[in-house]
Amino acid sequence: MPRITHLSVRDIRFPTSSQLDGSDAMNPDPDYSSAYVVLHTDTGLEGHGSTFTIGRGNEIVCAAIRAHQHLVVGRSLSEFIEAPGRFWRDLTADSQLRWIGPDKGAVHLALAAIVNALWDLWGKHDGLPVWRLVSSLSPTRFADCIDFRYLTDALTREEAIDLLQARFDGRAGRIAELERDGYPAYTTSAGWLGYPDDKIRRLCRQAVAEGWNHIKIKVGRDLADDRRRLTIIREEIGWDRRLMVDANQVWDVPQAIDWMKALAPFKPWWIEEPTSPDDILGHARIARELKPLGIGVATGEHGMNRVLFKQLLQADAIAFCQIDSCRLGGVNENLAVLLLAAKFNVPVCPHAGGVGLCEFVQHLSMIDYICVSASLENRVCEFVDHLHEHFIEPCRIRNARYQVPLLPGYSTQMLAPSLDAHEFAHPPVGRST
Ligand SMILES: [Mg+2]
Repeated sequence: MPRITHLSVRDIRFPTSSQLDGSDAMNPDPDYSSAYVVLHTDTGLEGHGSTFTIGRGNEIVCAAIRAHQHLVVGRSLSEFIEAPGRFWRDLTADSQLRWIGPDKGAVHLALAAIVNALWDLWGKHDGLPVWRLVSSLSPTRFADCIDFRYLTDALTREEAIDLLQARFDGRAGRIAELERDGYPAYTTSAGWLGYPDDKIRRLCRQAVAEGWNHIKIKVGRDLADDRRRLTIIREEIGWDRRLMVDANQVWDVPQAIDWMKALAPFKPWWIEEPTSPDDILGHARIARELKPLGIGVATGEHGMNRVLFKQLLQADAIAFCQIDSCRLGGVNENLAVLLLAAKFNVPVCPHAGGVGLCEFVQHLSMIDYICVSASLENRVCEFVDHLHEHFIEPCRIRNARYQVPLLPGYSTQMLAPSLDAHEFAHPPVGRST
């Protein structure tokens, strides 16, 4: 069994801000970036993982990955495979590192990169893509992936096993269905806030021609502007397709309610990140006030850990649960949130985009369908058409659906020339990055 001998970390950045790709009300000029880690082993097998940032600060996450080195190097892959949840607890339980978390911020983003790399290593070792690997685990082994500390008031290990057991028999059929049809997706490519109207119109037309039935746009900078852009979008996509809007945390709670009441005539299916990602009761109030208008609250891309998701679900604050493979602590913590969402009957619609997020979360949506929710109702996984060409196995969309990844691992490995071409050259000390 491979043993991890060392890890290497690279600061990878793409100059996406030059095209205003990814621009929204809170983040006007992101440079999609990756804090990229490779776990090297004594057999030559490598686990690749990364976490996502939008530029400045990526070097801090890279440093935080290196700070975990002593918790990973020297350990055998067999330790992870035998008890993935315990291994995950070990990685989060370093008493000194924990002080600069716990379970949040740069240290947790760094953890996600390492955990994703461990799953990539396991998948490659077993010759399976991670969605298939997890789908081959028994309910008990699935539960072994999860650290249930802080969750048992909402979901115990026994309840999780019962839930997984109840869906176990249909797994083979759902795998066959995904292999044939893929997993439903939605597109955000048309609606970045920095795009001019004619570009939005052209991209909407293109999205409809490509078969997209769920389209999301950014809102929240200026109400008149939002109304004008939503008018254009409804003209292009009609009223049968689902339209989602995303404010990226810019509003206070009362402002979110008023703004969304003003946009209600455009029939948005959800409002995403209406306010601070930490404001559970604020989300709950927004959800209560908008429910009669048929608008659901969605959030999670800045949901720092499973405890926050637990409370959002307990408080009836979200109608859509947006996990993120890099904000939460990698695959393990995402599996915990899939189970919590299923317990509370809230559909999971993962956050993607950036660099690599589509490649990673497609696995999680497929695991959700095969093992956890056994439902596609009201579930769509985000897709944004950026930067896929840098990956060994880019995600594939056909008929607005993610096609199942085929290569062993977590689809995390980037092409060597891409890594070399986009490694960030730090300016001399004293100058801003
Ligand atoms: Mg968003």
